[in-house]
Amino acid sequence: MNWFPNYTCMACGDEIQTSTNVYLCPKCMSNLPIMFETQTTHYSPFVYKEPIRNMILSLKYNSNGYIAKALAPYIAAVYLKQIKPKCDQPPLIIPVPLHRSRQRERGYNQSEVLAKEVADYLNLPVLTNVLIRNKKTIIQKHMDTATRMKNMQGAFIIDQSEKSRIFNQNILILDDVYTTGTTTNECATVLRANGARNIFILTIASVL
Ligand SMILES: [Zn+2]
Repeated sequence: MNWFPNYTCMACGDEIQTSTNVYLCPKCMSNLPIMFETQTTHYSPFVYKEPIRNMILSLKYNSNGYIAKALAPYIAAVYLKQIKPKCDQPPLIIPVPLHRSRQRERGYNQSEVLAKEVADYLNLPVLTNVLIRNKKTIIQKHMDTATRMKNMQGAFIIDQSEKSRIFNQNILILDDVYTTGTTTNECATVLRANGARNIFILTIASVL
């Protein structure tokens, strides 16, 4: 994970001349694909479109940690506005885990990096060792929903020695993109089956 300071736009790479936002150039700032629709099953500040799409890919594959810093306030704002009013007690943040071998390959989990930045804003705890990715799932991009669901079945387990930490707790599942919801829904099912109370799904962007 790189944390080099940026003088270029996190979305398009242009040099930042004058901007009140240190992460994005004025052009990208004014083109952010803000999510206006009210979601009921999951929440995101953005629609999965440029320039956000490019930032998410860069966070995932170019280990640019500053992108997490740039996106965290938007995610935190959605939590405060849409999720917090529905929480009877502060939730625990659980980032969607990567399989051990994939995390070793990449060196980090982008959802975990993001979760830590968001948690800093909200002063919420992040749990990274309760929900475990048990199965190295194959890339889901071109699968239909039924195949995705089959692919995800049994993909996550709870570390039974950590199980008590989620009992009767509200959980905020954090991931980068919500596509069909197969991944986050599978996480929610496993968490619920292991005693979690209310589960909320929050991602940077949703595919509409
Ligand atoms: Zn830009």
